[in-house]
Amino acid sequence: MNIPVTSVEGKKLATDFLATPRKHLINGKWVASQSGKTFPVYNPADGQVIAQAAEGDKADIDLAVAAARAAFERGPWPKMTPSQRAKLLWKLADAIDAHADELALLETLDNGKPLKLARMADIPGSAEKFRYNAGWATKLNGETMSANKPGDWHMYTLREPVGVVGLIVPWNFPLMMAANKMAPALAAGCTVILKPAEQTPLTALRLGELIQEVGFPEGVVNIVTGFGETAGAALSEHPGVDKISFTGSTEVGKLILKAATGNLKRVTLELGGKSPIIIFPDADLDRAIPAAANGIFFNSGQVCAASSRLYAHKDVFDKLVEGVAKHAEKLKVGPGTEPDTDFGPLVSQEQIERVTGYLKAGADAGARVVTGGKRLDREGYFVQPTVFADTSHDMSIVREEIFGPVLSASSFSDDDLEQISAKANDTTYGLSAYLWTQNLGIAHKMAKKLKAGTVCVNTFGLDLAVPFGGYKQSGWGRENAREGVETYTEIKSVIVGL
Ligand code: NAP
Ligand code: MG
Repeated sequence: MNIPVTSVEGKKLATDFLATPRKHLINGKWVASQSGKTFPVYNPADGQVIAQAAEGDKADIDLAVAAARAAFERGPWPKMTPSQRAKLLWKLADAIDAHADELALLETLDNGKPLKLARMADIPGSAEKFRYNAGWATKLNGETMSANKPGDWHMYTLREPVGVVGLIVPWNFPLMMAANKMAPALAAGCTVILKPAEQTPLTALRLGELIQEVGFPEGVVNIVTGFGETAGAALSEHPGVDKISFTGSTEVGKLILKAATGNLKRVTLELGGKSPIIIFPDADLDRAIPAAANGIFFNSGQVCAASSRLYAHKDVFDKLVEGVAKHAEKLKVGPGTEPDTDFGPLVSQEQIERVTGYLKAGADAGARVVTGGKRLDREGYFVQPTVFADTSHDMSIVREEIFGPVLSASSFSDDDLEQISAKANDTTYGLSAYLWTQNLGIAHKMAKKLKAGTVCVNTFGLDLAVPFGGYKQSGWGRENAREGVETYTEIKSVIVGL
């Protein structure tokens, strides 16, 4: 196996880790599936098998839920103070940083992304999720209320952990998505069962080892690998689970919702997107062009908040599209383990079929291919970063989430913000929207009109301190910020007649 570019220690650890068949973490122990089944884990850069993971199903989920329940009700976890929980989360963040080389390499081999991206974004970003949420553990409080009725009363709320939580995550940012849910859930005092995506279970499992090393009590974090249709479905319909937090496709989000009705478990859904980027004629194009390119080509376009629909004013349209295409052509495409790679393969055979299907659909529908448009003729799941121009709203490449490096660009000529926002809002999704203008009035007026959970002006980026989530079919609820941790709590009202 080809494992270059990282510290010798990180390389050795990752190699040892891959050589051992992986198991589930249940009640503080690494255990094989009840069925004894395993499944192969692939490297998207060459399609080769790099590891074996345990294939969990309902029987394993049952054990993990029982462990999480016991840990939630009894044992050291519910007795720990918020500050003790915060300390553990902080220690875990430090452990992630200390093992960053190894985790980055595992992520690259498993997901395909450039090692420099994993090392600079995914791994430190995951550590930061634990650090940020450690701070919330000591700040989750109820309130006191003044009575609305006559008499002497003492009325207040308690904010309590929601209980046992199932976390189901996708493959695009495997460790970061796991951390994004696990950190606030643990900060709130919940216990969890994590189900990583079948394509990318490795860093979650290594995280499980670090969780043990830093001293989380057994059963607080359980990790069951396997497939969505079996392990994921068993978790989402389990009567012993109080909440599911899911990130993935809108289609599966709806299945989760149905499965959750049995015990009316709480549900947070972070789903797909088809986010617009709108460029006004006064935009600073030197910044807008690379931002528009990164917005769709970052992580090979496998980003829920990708800016996949470009709307540029006719006066700047040609310059913009040409600039984005030039940026695409300069990206060094290759295996993530090569040091100069900017743009790695897609995650799987399934994903390359999906994306190439859209490339054909776009061309067949008459969209103009400005750059890219093809799968690369080499081993692995590589596709060219692609720009389609002269697209219209009846094309599937404009309406549907591709989840790949495919931009659809069209121009607008009017100055009516109502018309422009109507076009941007003409989608079943509502995750993010991006605006480029130097005009403050336009920026704030548009920010109000756009139906999206996050509106970025003159930037492409998120921050842990602001809530993230979707309008419409992009989801239910918010992650990050205070909202993100409060979603793992229940409010209890206490009314005392004095
Ligand atoms: P997916 O098929 O929905 O899978 C996501 C997770 O759900 C995986 O762990 C999957 O397991 C599991 N799953 C599948 N079927 C299930 C079922 N019936 N019951 C319970 N769990 C089930 O999505 P994906 O193809 O992996 O990821 C791409 C999608 O995720 C895109 O649509 C993207 O927009 C969305 N996404 C959204 C965000 C966000 O924050 N809004 C972030 C990242 C990705 P297996 O993989 O093991 O089958
Ligand atoms: Mg899947």
